[in-house]
Amino acid sequence: MANIQVLDQKTIDQIAAGEVIERPSSVVKELVENSIDAGATAVTVEIRDGGISFIRVTDNGSGIDRSQVSVAFLRHSTSKIQAVEDLFHVSSLGFRGEALSSIASIAMVELITKTRDADAGVRYVIEGGVEKKLEDMAAPDGTTFLVRSLFYNTPARRKFLKSPMTEAGYISELMERLALSHPDISFQFVNNGQTRLHTSGNHNLKDVIYHIYGREIAANLSEIDAAQGPVRITGFIGKPVISRGNRAYENYFINGRYIKSNVIARGIEEGYRTFMMQHKYPFTALHFTIDGKLLDVNVHPTKMELRFSNQEELYRFVRETVKGGLMDRELIPEVKLTE
Ligand code: ADP
Ligand code: MG
Repeated sequence: MANIQVLDQKTIDQIAAGEVIERPSSVVKELVENSIDAGATAVTVEIRDGGISFIRVTDNGSGIDRSQVSVAFLRHSTSKIQAVEDLFHVSSLGFRGEALSSIASIAMVELITKTRDADAGVRYVIEGGVEKKLEDMAAPDGTTFLVRSLFYNTPARRKFLKSPMTEAGYISELMERLALSHPDISFQFVNNGQTRLHTSGNHNLKDVIYHIYGREIAANLSEIDAAQGPVRITGFIGKPVISRGNRAYENYFINGRYIKSNVIARGIEEGYRTFMMQHKYPFTALHFTIDGKLLDVNVHPTKMELRFSNQEELYRFVRETVKGGLMDRELIPEVKLTE
């Protein structure tokens, strides 16, 4: 048997990276969430080869100060929390400080960033976790990350990727969800040189829905705005006529974060139950605003699920809100499309 030994740091980082970065869409998710946290009002994502060879994320957010650039790439370095207590009122999407170090350990990364106060920007290059360069460079306010050759040094992981077209599809879906989660931000998604999505950032969720899903869905929505205790729900639910055969159109966001939640899904579907045939699922784009104290976001590194402290109450509130929204809608004549 081999001797027992402590792994070297590079190997530790690569293993940890696997938890956060599974595929190109995970890189895009982490980088765009950072852009959102940095207060950006415009975010552009460009990819080639499904993001495997090239991902570039450009934002007009706060930028990173020169003195902080290499710190940002250390594992567990974050500007977003300082202590465990802070976890209970995080308003940022990130807080674990794992994304940049993970991405840098399994790809070639170039960062160009400038804060508003700085005279010049900075260019930083890090490849496979090894710093290559930190130099001054003229740059606009904000941050650009360029991530090339994902998994170039972990071929076993690379093998698990799907075709560039499939990977691009995952990124495209992610961009749609991000756009729905933040109608206040203008998102642009460019795949192999072609613009696939470009939202205006005019704060209007219905415009984003129209842009992504088209006329038929946008014309058959019912607006929701309800509050109970610490929870507020706003957004849109689709009329039963635009139901689907799967749950892909059930979007909901908590405090600006796309999540999956059995409690919410059950509430939504139960609210629709008497209005819809079996095995049909509704279109929803619902934004939940919930006091952070009632949530535990620290469930999984990718943070797709949140725990609620009062599940049953939330479930009932969702169900009744959806039901109420559908009943109101029945009074309004169905929108007839002219095409
Ligand atoms: P986390 O988001 O969990 O804090 P990350 O590894 O994703 O950890 O990022 C580390 C830090 O780098 C962030 O806390 C933030 O201070 C800084 N940062 C990352 N991306 C950006 C960006 N686009 N604009 C400004 N600061 C950023
Ligand atoms: Mg982050």
